[in-house]
Amino acid sequence: MNIVRCPSCDGYGWDEDDFTGEAEDCAWCAGIGYVYRDTSQVDHKIPLDDLKKTDISQKLESLENERMREIGYSGEAKKPWQQDIRKGTQGGINPYDEK
Ligand SMILES: [Zn+2]
Repeated sequence: MNIVRCPSCDGYGWDEDDFTGEAEDCAWCAGIGYVYRDTSQVDHKIPLDDLKKTDISQKLESLENERMREIGYSGEAKKPWQQDIRKGTQGGINPYDEK
């Protein structure tokens, strides 16, 4: 049994409601973000009990690390002034920049 990224939520574990904007657990993977794919390429929810198994949780962790790298997450929170969204605002000014 392979573990693959949930095709419905792409590993996020939740879906955003298009109308209300509210996030809810992905029904496809029960919020785990990953599913089992059997030899006939059919996806199954990972039972919560299986998450306690060391081999499963290690596999999930490495998949999650891979996903984080893919989306450019460095494992470190960005400083407010490093966030593109704050550029040009008060919060976008580096308080440690002496110039
Ligand atoms: Zn999902």
